[in-house]
Amino acid sequence: MSDVTSRLAAVRLRVRSAAQAAGRDPASVRLLAVSKTKPVELIREAYAAGQRDFGENYVQELARKAEALADLPDLRFHMIGHLQRNKVRQVVRVVSAVHTVDSTRLAEELGKRAGSCPVLPERRIPSAVDGRLPVLVEVNVGGEAQKSGCPPADLGSVINAIQAEPSLCLAGLMTVPPHTDDPAGARPFFDALVALRDAHGGAERLPELSMGMTHDLEQAVAAGATWVRIGTAIFGPRTT
Ligand SMILES: *Cc1c(COP(=O)(O)O)cnc(C)c1O
Repeated sequence: MSDVTSRLAAVRLRVRSAAQAAGRDPASVRLLAVSKTKPVELIREAYAAGQRDFGENYVQELARKAEALADLPDLRFHMIGHLQRNKVRQVVRVVSAVHTVDSTRLAEELGKRAGSCPVLPERRIPSAVDGRLPVLVEVNVGGEAQKSGCPPADLGSVINAIQAEPSLCLAGLMTVPPHTDDPAGARPFFDALVALRDAHGGAERLPELSMGMTHDLEQAVAAGATWVRIGTAIFGPRTT
């Protein structure tokens, strides 16, 4: 027994407190447990403690874990790492959502492949429609050269490419802000994502905002996050 259960409880408390401090309904912020590089035993422990949504970054690892955890039909994997088009086929078979669509070509490939792999009812996240695959557009709000995510100027065309695919549903926007030692430094980037959402149809069209990690979850919740992606605070530091 590791301390995942107690860490998870502490993170839930952090999310709830942040929501209350921001005058938001705590149920409007969902927790994505980022399990990359961590063994399936720890995922099972979090599952036993009620956690259902898990984020993974690497396709090979995601496929291996999905197979190892196939006995848990309502466990939901979210792809949160950079996705190459030649890996899309492996991903659509096992995920409940993709947070990292950053080009029209990736949207087209996902649309093509998701058509033959409807998301099973027990694996659907709340914003999913029918068996369609919910996808979020990753936006590089900080304009960092080494980071993935589409430039804000391309957002409109990526959104349109997603909406042109009958097997995808447009769920919202995602970002990873530039690192700042002070978590408050992330806030302007979260606010920038909210402004982009408002400029592209608002919450009606883009209901989900995936933003906030261990270091800056309070800032993200204050700005309006609907999914926070938390790894270290739940599973401990990563060594690889
Ligand atoms: C690893 C990762 C996280 C989790 O980061 P922590 O700081 O460990 O909470 C969240 N989002 C993405 C995209 C990641 O790659």
